[in-house]
Amino acid sequence: MKITLKRIPLAVLFALCPGLTTVETFAQDKTERQPQPQLNDKLLPEDGLRRRTTAPATQRDTESADKVLKITEPPVIDPGPIGGPPSDAIPLFSGQDLSQWRSGSGGEAKWKVEKGVMEVNGTGNIVTTEQFGDLQVHVEWASPSEVKGEGQGRGNSGVYLQGRYEIQVLDSYQNKTYANGQAGALYGMAAPLVNACRKPGEWQTYDIIFHPPRQSPDGSLVAGSVTVLHNGVLVQDHVTIAGQSTTAAAFKGAVAKGPLMLQDHGNPVRYRNIWIRRL
Ligand code: MG
Repeated sequence: MKITLKRIPLAVLFALCPGLTTVETFAQDKTERQPQPQLNDKLLPEDGLRRRTTAPATQRDTESADKVLKITEPPVIDPGPIGGPPSDAIPLFSGQDLSQWRSGSGGEAKWKVEKGVMEVNGTGNIVTTEQFGDLQVHVEWASPSEVKGEGQGRGNSGVYLQGRYEIQVLDSYQNKTYANGQAGALYGMAAPLVNACRKPGEWQTYDIIFHPPRQSPDGSLVAGSVTVLHNGVLVQDHVTIAGQSTTAAAFKGAVAKGPLMLQDHGNPVRYRNIWIRRL
């Protein structure tokens, strides 16, 4: 009689070949032991937006990830011309007036405004009327064309985040001073990675990403950070801001929101095209 595999009951087949069940069990175990794609919940931002951090391996994972990707589809914005402002930015100075600013000592901001440019004129610091927390800010500035003074006395001004943490503005083109006080420094705390300063009188850009230090519910302080690009070059790379204000700050103490401040250091530094985005 001819015996075919088709006619042998499954149980008999397993009894004759015990290795078959072992192989099957091993295959199952192997599948179970393999790490499955996970969403890294630790990285999820508080607003509920979700990002896929690993590639899906199964159909179910793919469908699940697709749902996640639909949630995270970013809003469409118009980036605007080179140098912005993008359509979701708040213009802080577009060249017309100082309506978004007031004097640091109270009252009206009195810096000179002419031909689309505002200029430090000895009337004191100016601060924004609005308060900001996490932010991206774009600032264009120029030190005086006529070189006067040296070191910290040459084209000195500053962009104070929350009126507390100064990103130094200084004519640092062939102008020696201490490293953590030159252009692009987190003043007194962190020197820029490189000196990317243009010549006196030329327009320069700062693009700053700032996350302020925060008070946690238990009273402890969670450090913030600042990243700065000077003329498109990275000069501060996610540098920690522990919470203490830099020299000559208008305010002290860690807060959720504060104004942007521009420093009057007695030098006629000019500014234009300033805009900010809340993050
Ligand atoms: Mg300064």
